[in-house]
Amino acid sequence: MHTFRIATTALLCLAASSTGTSATAQTAYPTLDREPACTTLMPTSAGGPRPSNPDVVVLRFLGVANYELAYRDNVILLDAGIDTLSWWESSGVTPEMMTKDVDAILLGHAHGEHLWDAPYIAEKTGALVVADPIAMRWVRGTGRVDDKKMAAVKGLGGETFRFKGFAVEAVLGHHNIVPGEYMQKDRAAAAAIALEGPLTPEQQAHDRRLGGMVPTTPEERERIIKEGTIAYFFTFENGFTMFYTDSAGPTTDQERKIMQGRPKIDVGFIPYYGGELAPPITMEYIRLFKPDLMLPTHHDGHRNRMLDMPMGPLGLQIRNEFPKTKAIAPLLRAPVCINTVTRELYVGN
Ligand SMILES: [Zn+2]
Ligand SMILES: [Zn+2]
Repeated sequence: MHTFRIATTALLCLAASSTGTSATAQTAYPTLDREPACTTLMPTSAGGPRPSNPDVVVLRFLGVANYELAYRDNVILLDAGIDTLSWWESSGVTPEMMTKDVDAILLGHAHGEHLWDAPYIAEKTGALVVADPIAMRWVRGTGRVDDKKMAAVKGLGGETFRFKGFAVEAVLGHHNIVPGEYMQKDRAAAAAIALEGPLTPEQQAHDRRLGGMVPTTPEERERIIKEGTIAYFFTFENGFTMFYTDSAGPTTDQERKIMQGRPKIDVGFIPYYGGELAPPITMEYIRLFKPDLMLPTHHDGHRNRMLDMPMGPLGLQIRNEFPKTKAIAPLLRAPVCINTVTRELYVGN
């Protein structure tokens, strides 16, 4: 076993070769660039390997705000909108594939693209589903998830879920507030530069089915903003920490509270959406959480509807204020591998 160690200045260095740290050299485990889970594009949920090194966490972007986390024998989905509207770039992974190994599905909020595959995947895998009461009302209504496998959370404190090697606490977040006028401009701009023609009838039918899958009442849509957006704070037994949220409104009292007494975190899954409106709100999260590694959520554009978010302007702002923070938008399905003890980072292609 490794000695328990919290780096004072957590170095996240790209591991280019096996010249790694003594901790790596002392173990029988492969270097990150040779770790089987870090040399494949196949999510663990879909049958890809788990990390062999018990210190290594593998994070995988699956589109929109979906990430997969694999650590020891835990596989966790952060959001579960695996199928995508035709405008989005497909990850190449289907919900049917994501049924080999899932222990828990942590949902951010009740907008369809964040949860529409959760009941199906939970039914096939027996995964625990954690969600706010609005999302859970829909999940329960599908009749696919066992009562004992649903945990409705409000994020007001004390809602902690324990897994092997780490715990996750639900934290009340805030949905983003992008003015309708901006959304219209963004949509018009995305449509104006789209070179491909309109969707085929099959694509339209697919999108109608997905788009209508998670109906909410006007009252629920109102409540999603301040009461129905849940973030998750991960505390590993070795001191490694992560924060995930899939929509960026202003930061909340609960988010500030969970950071009390913590100078920083290791990984922040931080939303980044809304053109030039986005950097200020994303920076509010960066300043609060001070992650060594920032992985964006909800930043990928979709044809005719939403411009892709450029990482350059955000990356420059982050570097100016936090020279040690890395902001990386991983490619779909690419493994982001971190040794949670040495803080070594490897991003597969
Ligand atoms: Zn969304
Ligand atoms: Zn939303």
